[in-house]
Amino acid sequence: MARPFLMRARRLLSLGTDLSLQALLPRVCALCEAELGRADARRARLCPPCLEALPGTSGGRCLRCALHHVPSAACPLSSEAQAPWDAALAWLDYGYPVDGWIHALKFQGEGALAEGLGHGLARAILRHRETWAPLVGPIDAIVPLPLAPSRLARRGFNQAALIATAVQRAWRLEGDAAPPLRPDWLLRTGDTAPLSGQGASERPAMIHGVYQAGKGTRHGQRHNNKVGSAGEPSLKGRCVLLIDDVMTTGASLAEATRCLRAAGAQGVVVAAAARTPLVAHESPG
Ligand SMILES: [Zn+2]
Ligand SMILES: [Zn+2]
Repeated sequence: MARPFLMRARRLLSLGTDLSLQALLPRVCALCEAELGRADARRARLCPPCLEALPGTSGGRCLRCALHHVPSAACPLSSEAQAPWDAALAWLDYGYPVDGWIHALKFQGEGALAEGLGHGLARAILRHRETWAPLVGPIDAIVPLPLAPSRLARRGFNQAALIATAVQRAWRLEGDAAPPLRPDWLLRTGDTAPLSGQGASERPAMIHGVYQAGKGTRHGQRHNNKVGSAGEPSLKGRCVLLIDDVMTTGASLAEATRCLRAAGAQGVVVAAAARTPLVAHESPG
């Protein structure tokens, strides 16, 4: 009989807590404990069948809202203000057990979990390339959505930057010419109250004006990235792949997209490791 999920989740949450101990343990899947091949252990900490069983990996997603809905259904992000990007992509649905995975990454410092999320997201991006690529030019750079300065100071890392780094690495492993990481193309200058407690209608106003694009300042270097250098080439005419961990209402990604466009970006594709299904953001929390 399958091990109760709570125990599996604990095991998932405990992964990576002690790297020295971890090196001595057999590499097993975090969900089913099947022994992992070297590549699976390094990439995702999940065996291929468990990876395939994660919620949201099958079926097409709408390129405006990144939700699974049939083309004839009304898109919840139908206006230009809600969805100013050229395409929106996601790998997983945000829910059990993905929520535990991302929670462990963000709040328990399990940075290694970003590798699996980034790898899966990269595969989803490349697998669906023929649907989104015609909507933009070739991607010139991968840019993580920056974190609020106060949260970054508390957490010590930006989970979107870790995922973006893993996306870039996985893209490269596919044997393709991967776009470079340009975290300094988008900075975050302002704090807001946590958006997680806010309704979809309040979020856009709260987030307005917090991003700054195309400056490549030392501030951005120190706080939101460990890659790139000051004074990187201008965003003008460039196409950007903007990465976040979870897309909930899309308000932060929309504001960041507007900021990138105002700085001259020609194309913006947003991609999140996980997308909150529609029913969850009708009662935000
Ligand atoms: Zn498994
Ligand atoms: Zn849609």
